[in-house]
Amino acid sequence: MDCLFCKIIAGEIPSNKIYEDEQCYAFYDIDPQAPVHFLVIPKEHITGANKITEKNSAVVGHIYAVIAKITKELGTGDDYRVVSNCGKMAGQTVGHLHFHVLAKRNLAWPPG
Ligand code: 5GP
Ligand code: ZN
Repeated sequence: MDCLFCKIIAGEIPSNKIYEDEQCYAFYDIDPQAPVHFLVIPKEHITGANKITEKNSAVVGHIYAVIAKITKELGTGDDYRVVSNCGKMAGQTVGHLHFHVLAKRNLAWPPG
């Protein structure tokens, strides 16, 4: 399958991995927008947040639990933002569901 993040999971494209288990994969973003900026993705190829269903949604809760664990390990305190851009207008550029985690700087709200 011609998917960048599936290739990263498969190890065909190198990444700076933080964490991996049977359901998800976490790695640093190549173009960080904060002192801490990593991505967590399900191993299952789901194209975006709009394709989360009752059937495949368990991984989303798991990912949030993994994020809580990783941020603790990275010492971000309890201050971080989780973002999943869905669709072009929201800024989605990779068609594999991913959760950005941004931390260690003040983050404006609402985002631009
Ligand atoms: P989106 O724009 O779809 O919300 O987020 C995609 C993210 O993937 C961007 O923040 C971008 O910097 C990151 N990204 C794109 N290509 C690569 C890559 O090859 N490796 C890594 N680690 N991140 C990537
Ligand atoms: Zn994929």
